[in-house]
Amino acid sequence: MDFKLPKKNIISKEMPRYPNIWFYVNSNIVEGYLEAVYLVIFNLMKYCNIKNNFSENYRLGHILFNSNEGSDTEGRYKGLQPYTDIDNPSNSHDHQLHIRYYYKNLINDKSEKVKLNINNEDIIFYRLALSAHYEVTTENKNHPFVEFCPICGRAGIYDVEVDQNDLDKEICKKIHDPLAVEILLRNTIRGNKIYNNRGEQIKFIERLKKDCDLETYIVDTMDDEINTPKIGHILIRKINYGRDIILKNIKEN
Ligand SMILES: [Zn+2]
Ligand SMILES: [Zn+2]
Repeated sequence: MDFKLPKKNIISKEMPRYPNIWFYVNSNIVEGYLEAVYLVIFNLMKYCNIKNNFSENYRLGHILFNSNEGSDTEGRYKGLQPYTDIDNPSNSHDHQLHIRYYYKNLINDKSEKVKLNINNEDIIFYRLALSAHYEVTTENKNHPFVEFCPICGRAGIYDVEVDQNDLDKEICKKIHDPLAVEILLRNTIRGNKIYNNRGEQIKFIERLKKDCDLETYIVDTMDDEINTPKIGHILIRKINYGRDIILKNIKEN
């Protein structure tokens, strides 16, 4: 299917990678783009525990230096898959799924709406871009990466070539980015179930499916301009709770 992705140059120039998760909200189920954006952020908070729970100091840094990869807002699920390195305990860490949202770029480019053909039916969607990666938790001194971590690092199918002069960016693009697509859309990591630090299995989009009619697609990148290996597309065709629930939440938050 052709998702008619926009060009990379419409995304903030501070963002080094092409956004790897695209959400689409059927324009019939919301009134306007802002409500669609809110629906996605709210759903990821409610069903996938993606919250903006970074420290005040971290947020202050971004405000003062305008350095948050050009994003509009962000969130994360922290405390996932604790890893203990017995041979080198200082490498031990747990993980976070970190998501940055980009919607102002789409508004500015007037590309926040797209007509997609789904099973021979043309549907107009509102869309927003997310950049998601799976990494060492911000609070851990090893953040953002431990190169050879068997969970978030260069191991197994992700034992890929990297440019050692640009290790941070290379690992994010080639390993942390595609891991996040798998985690969010497939609810697995490297094909295995995901647990938090209390031993509970975590399901991401799977939980959202309970209350939304969703379609998901993972597409391997073919276009050089899209400098991330996999793109996840999540189409929300219908929500099974009333629009009043969204509006109630907008009022309460
Ligand atoms: Zn991050
Ligand atoms: Zn790790």
